[in-house]
Amino acid sequence: MEAHRMRTLRASVENAVEYLPVESLETIAERLGVPPERIAKLDSNENPYGPPPAVVAALATLTDLHLYPDPDQRRARAALADYTGAPFERILLGNGSDELIDLLLLAVIDPGDEVIVPVPSFGVYLSRPPLFGARVVTVPRTETFALDLAAIEQAVTPHTKLIFLASPNNPTGNLVSAGELERLARTGVLLVVDEAYYEFAGTTLQPFTERYDNVVILRTFSKWAGLAGLRIGYGIFPPQIARALWRVKQPFNVSVAAQVAVEAALADREWLMERVELIRRERNRLFQELQRYPFLRPYPSEANFILCRVHDGRAHELHAHLLRQAIVVRRYDDEWLRDYLRITVGTADQVDRILEALDTFPF
Ligand SMILES: *Cc1c(COP(=O)(O)O)cnc(C)c1O
Repeated sequence: MEAHRMRTLRASVENAVEYLPVESLETIAERLGVPPERIAKLDSNENPYGPPPAVVAALATLTDLHLYPDPDQRRARAALADYTGAPFERILLGNGSDELIDLLLLAVIDPGDEVIVPVPSFGVYLSRPPLFGARVVTVPRTETFALDLAAIEQAVTPHTKLIFLASPNNPTGNLVSAGELERLARTGVLLVVDEAYYEFAGTTLQPFTERYDNVVILRTFSKWAGLAGLRIGYGIFPPQIARALWRVKQPFNVSVAAQVAVEAALADREWLMERVELIRRERNRLFQELQRYPFLRPYPSEANFILCRVHDGRAHELHAHLLRQAIVVRRYDDEWLRDYLRITVGTADQVDRILEALDTFPF
């Protein structure tokens, strides 16, 4: 009998492009043949200072690990309600804000729906929607990476379900203004305002969540709070969307460790904001210094990274040059960003190391 040839994978999975992976510190250290502590890992916008000691202490004394975490995330949500001033009922945590992006798509996308992404932006906005049956409609930003509002409005169709707006935008570092959000909110489309770098910018579009029922704010503990390894994201959602997310989320999506870390980190927010301030200062210094190199054009940033255009198509060459000195920055393969590198702002020592390495780039 002839075997029936079955197509096992969904077409959207079969066709999915693999995301240019960011390697772990261990993998990079092995490949370069240097100890991990010598590497300046400046490719993922992580926070070199890590979490407050109180978070580590709270994690070290966890008990009852045989019990599932609170599916309602009550204590962590109460701490976040206090921190953000948003109503408890509108707050939901995810296993990283990446999970919240998936949950939003799971809740709103029907096959054939469209999602608008002003590009360049965070790669996840491009890679995840097709897996939920959505078509991604990219709208190029202007030369300075500002939103092209008219083009976004023109891209809206009856099938448009959401628009991804990162503010500050990753990797370009610029903000969405209140005026811009106001205009886009009037399209009626659900706006996902990703404020992963809010604490570095010090400015938020959160007030819009009080006036519009189509504005979502996403945040994360991965960057400002030094907790990327624990996977903690949260959002402030319109009531209808919040109710939908409770229906689609896995009951135990946020671990006991993550929920405890939220409380402990927010209790020590002064410690964290002191480090955020150090990073902001180093960001401003790095930006000033980067302007001295004739082969670079750095873009002003409100986040903890700086995007640089590398002239003469030499971005990947510069990436390799830095790597030889155990400095890892982000490079890109896609059509919008292949001439750019994104440098995470680390400690003062790490900034010094980058500048020294740039001084020896043959140009
Ligand atoms: C880093 C980043 C995230 C990811 O956050 P996690 O909470 O670690 O999943 C989300 N959005 C943007 C724009 C980011 O740069």
